[in-house]
Amino acid sequence: MGRVGVMGGTFDPIHYGHLVTAEEARVHFELSQVLFIPNRYPPHKDLDGVSAPEHRYHMTLLATATNPDFAVSRLEVDRPGPSYSIDTIRELRQAYQADALFYITGADAILQVVRGAWEGSAELLTLCQFIAASRPGFPIDVHDLRRFNVTGHQLSNIHVIEIPALAISSTDIRRRVTAGRPIRYLVPEPVETYIHKYGLYGRAGGAQG
Ligand code: ATP
Ligand code: MG
Repeated sequence: MGRVGVMGGTFDPIHYGHLVTAEEARVHFELSQVLFIPNRYPPHKDLDGVSAPEHRYHMTLLATATNPDFAVSRLEVDRPGPSYSIDTIRELRQAYQADALFYITGADAILQVVRGAWEGSAELLTLCQFIAASRPGFPIDVHDLRRFNVTGHQLSNIHVIEIPALAISSTDIRRRVTAGRPIRYLVPEPVETYIHKYGLYGRAGGAQG
């Protein structure tokens, strides 16, 4: 079955930062597939203004459609309540061993995990491998990870990779759309079209990019 990567997120919207991170992780760790898993409700974010799960799911589908090694899972979208990664990884462990399952995160996210901020953080760290991608503004310092580690876990299964700097965030893209500023070349074209078609982020259809 090979090794599989898991890219979890809110993807509101998905952008090239996510995609290049997933592709780098896939090649570097010889993953046979990267599974994108948009959450239903992000447990760690203010729910106010988060787009409907189906919108985020569809944008993720559009963004990944051209890569034969990318797939999108409805695991979290279809599971009632807030989406905890620990529940998702437990489910995936029925198909994959801990050394074949790679959870891909940005530096901000992995720091939250070792700080114990995620539901079941300590257990989560025992269930799979982690690929922590450096991200502009969030350089990964392994010493920081150890210093902040409250999980009692060794962290030897956290693998750090450098991603070509892409200072893209969904937050910035949402603000751009709201302000009528361009998002072209920050997200795949079909995602941009989708955002305008459904008037996401407070700009009714047809805004010029
Ligand atoms: P928001 O600004 O709304 O928080 P985001 O851009 O951080 O959105 P998320 O859906 O929150 O996107 O992130 C999903 C995962 O992708 C997280 O692990 C996050 O760290 C990672 N990620 C997001 N943007 C980048 C980027 N530009 N480079 C590398 N990793 C990223
Ligand atoms: Mg984020």
